[in-house]
Amino acid sequence: MRYFSTRGQSPILPFCDILLEGLAPDGGLYLPERYPHVSREDLDRWRNLSYAELAFAIFHLYIDDIPARDLRDMAARVYTAERFGFARDAARAAEITPLTWLEPGRLGLLELSNGPTLAFKDMAMQWLGELFEYALAERGETLNILGATSGDTGSAAEYAMRGREGVRVFMLSPRGKMSAFQRAQMYSLTDANIFNIAVDGMFDEAQDVVKAASLDAAFKARYRIGAVNSINWARVLAQIVYYFKGYFAATETSEQKVAFCVPSGNFGNICAGHIARQMGLPIGRLILATNENDVLDEFFRTGVYRPRSAAETRVTSSPSMDISRASNFERFVFDLTGRDAAKVRDLWAEIAREGAFDLAAAPEWARLPDFAFVSGRSDHADRLATIRQVYARYGLIVDPHTADGLKVAYQYAESEETPVLVLETAQAAKFSETIQEALGRLPDRPESLAGLESLPQRVEMMAADMEEIKAFIAARSDSGKEF
Ligand SMILES: *Cc1c(COP(=O)(O)O)cnc(C)c1O
Repeated sequence: MRYFSTRGQSPILPFCDILLEGLAPDGGLYLPERYPHVSREDLDRWRNLSYAELAFAIFHLYIDDIPARDLRDMAARVYTAERFGFARDAARAAEITPLTWLEPGRLGLLELSNGPTLAFKDMAMQWLGELFEYALAERGETLNILGATSGDTGSAAEYAMRGREGVRVFMLSPRGKMSAFQRAQMYSLTDANIFNIAVDGMFDEAQDVVKAASLDAAFKARYRIGAVNSINWARVLAQIVYYFKGYFAATETSEQKVAFCVPSGNFGNICAGHIARQMGLPIGRLILATNENDVLDEFFRTGVYRPRSAAETRVTSSPSMDISRASNFERFVFDLTGRDAAKVRDLWAEIAREGAFDLAAAPEWARLPDFAFVSGRSDHADRLATIRQVYARYGLIVDPHTADGLKVAYQYAESEETPVLVLETAQAAKFSETIQEALGRLPDRPESLAGLESLPQRVEMMAADMEEIKAFIAARSDSGKEF
């Protein structure tokens, strides 16, 4: 399997050559040349596999330049009850992503946040940690990871990479925009290979710095810059696995269909669902939920994609979705255009020129129903009301992002003939301020994380200025300290 860029003007490469890359050199995103097709028989065979074995089966379809034996070992090391031990019901931790029915057979929560940082980002990032270490050792290379986080990617990346051979992490986060727990989780890490940089501005501005630095070929080559943001293909790939796992947990036969509802920001999570569906997983509908930053909801309702500026991006109580330029969306648009890279280039040129594109009258829009997307939005009041309602009805505390998903899922579940699985993207313990506001009580927190906020913190404060940040990385990389 080889990978090409959504803009069609980059070399076509095998998996290991794009593994450490962020954007393709032409500014596009990497996608496989085709989506492997999964048959009914495959589904029947996969139905009872362990998470690690299922992950291996899927990875194997997309990666042919790592020996199968090594791939299988890596998956087995990553997807264990020890690494994903924070399950609601500890007895089910071995399932990695246990399904909890709220309304049996109709509405369920697929727990994706049982990893070390209590957010779904761990699902892919823990695997990326293994892969990076493996690939770097094979090549005798080192890597400086440069990333931006709206809250959860950063900590997931740092926990996956801390102490690993050959890897340094430089992580930009928007100053003052994350929860106290999120800040503490990142900034309290003392590993010598982890650097936290809090920048003035919103997530999108931090992400722009990362994108711009990644397009500076000389800088990128000299300092061996790699990416772990959700544009990284290996992350999208790892996320495909739990759509299969969730599907098997919710069905008895592979004739049935399931809908997934996904709290969305950068379109990474739901992009994996889209690809799972393209591979042949019987997904009825993909329900996309946004918060007040509703760029994606606007697109699926109207055909207009208008990324917002930082000034127009609201700081909300579901901060990991405060994103107004959804990086992975380009992957979906590429498929929507019938994989027409020239058309994608035109559309993104239009965004650069006009600030938006509008597909409402375009032939692409007529194809949208084939992709089974619907969408909705949720705001602060909805979020609080949903957290209260779920607690009152089922005695469960859900995090604010999951609440956004549930709010939208309730809207559709009525008319949905298939079960709807809401992806539980974080645990409530990460967002105790909002839980306190909604319920007048704090969420429970895993014992091992007690007192996290009072640990000493280590973070650099900087402007969202690419030159300054490049200089910071250069100084750390040339400091004479070999990996
Ligand atoms: C990252 C994140 C999201 C959004 O996921 P995308 O892949 O960016 O769409 C939603 N909820 C939580 C808790 C997250 O950390």
